[in-house]
Amino acid sequence: MDYTRLLKKRLLTPGPTPIPKESELAVMMDLPYHRSESFNSVMMNCAELLKVFFGTKSAPLFLSSSGTGAMEAAVLNLTNPEDKVLVISGGKFGERWAELTNCYGCQVQTLQCPWGTIVQPEQLKTVMEEQGPFKAVFFQAVETSTGVYFPVKEFAEIIRKHSEALVIVDALTSLQAHEMQMDEWGLDCVVSASQKGFGVPPGLSFIALSDRAKESFSQRPRYYFNLETEIQTQAEGQSAWTPPVSLMIALESSLKIFHGIGLSQLYKAHADLSHAVRLSLQAMGFHLFVSQDFAYSLTSFQAPEGVDSKELKTRLSKNYQMDISGGQGVMKGKLLRISHMGFIDPFDVFSALGALDLVLKDLGYESHVGKGVEEFIKNFPL
Ligand SMILES: *Cc1c(COP(=O)(O)O)cnc(C)c1O
Repeated sequence: MDYTRLLKKRLLTPGPTPIPKESELAVMMDLPYHRSESFNSVMMNCAELLKVFFGTKSAPLFLSSSGTGAMEAAVLNLTNPEDKVLVISGGKFGERWAELTNCYGCQVQTLQCPWGTIVQPEQLKTVMEEQGPFKAVFFQAVETSTGVYFPVKEFAEIIRKHSEALVIVDALTSLQAHEMQMDEWGLDCVVSASQKGFGVPPGLSFIALSDRAKESFSQRPRYYFNLETEIQTQAEGQSAWTPPVSLMIALESSLKIFHGIGLSQLYKAHADLSHAVRLSLQAMGFHLFVSQDFAYSLTSFQAPEGVDSKELKTRLSKNYQMDISGGQGVMKGKLLRISHMGFIDPFDVFSALGALDLVLKDLGYESHVGKGVEEFIKNFPL
């Protein structure tokens, strides 16, 4: 008998991530007119509920795009051609900042670290002292292609101490899992998006700006992604263009759930779950790709000697309806990434570890079967 038809689909990729029932239903509601008062209050409420995730007093802006759109809006609105900028890069998304700033004609300098590690604060300090001044410094909070967390607060401190450079942070997969205090830490621009743990489908991105950022808008011509226009219109719960109405309603629903849990509880849950996942994967014979500075939103790991990562991922999906991600860029085919952010709960992860066990057994790698689940129970984050 073919049991696969009876299985639930489980999504453990670092974007898109699962959507809670309440928010799924919200997507299906009758569409309000986006210039109506009732919808304007949804927009404003979303901004209010989202502020605390950024740790900022001013309302984050909403854009109709995936996360890269918000990254592009940051570069387009906050730099000028020929500006000298610094990109801190430790993976695929760091490379994206470098590509974007290059594309818009900035003079890009890259401070690079090997994939799976972070740039050390002292390295950043040296570059800031010896090679500045920079108009802006770009980096990730969590580098999703490798699963590390960069010390955002410490980086910002160093950058602000040594220069007037704008501090621009991609927090796509960190906002739900790691504390962010944009105002207090002196960040100027932070971007994120709906499908990374916010329990909303892809297509809606967020961008928050400091007062300093708002005073240094670009001289470039801008049209769709003109943040100056958005600041004015969104202050009234409007948006310059038609917003993704259904996604906004879903976001309001998801944010209410998060607020019900409380942010400190949410961060703790992510930290605990990621801790249990790391111990379990190691007990199963997997190698963790990262040895410190772990992201709490996802874990990247490598298959034991003799096990093909791609085959493992394919079997997990085909035989057990469970999707995790592989490597990106230079790590394509060599890495596995499991997400535990947003609405993924310990029982989803428990199932994933069980399924990984079954696949290892299918592949004839039996010596560690059951060890991961055993370890997870010992460290069960509930
Ligand atoms: C997902 C992600 C992005 C944006 O990707 P989109 O596919 O455009 O949403 C950017 N940075 C990081 C760190 C991400 O994880």
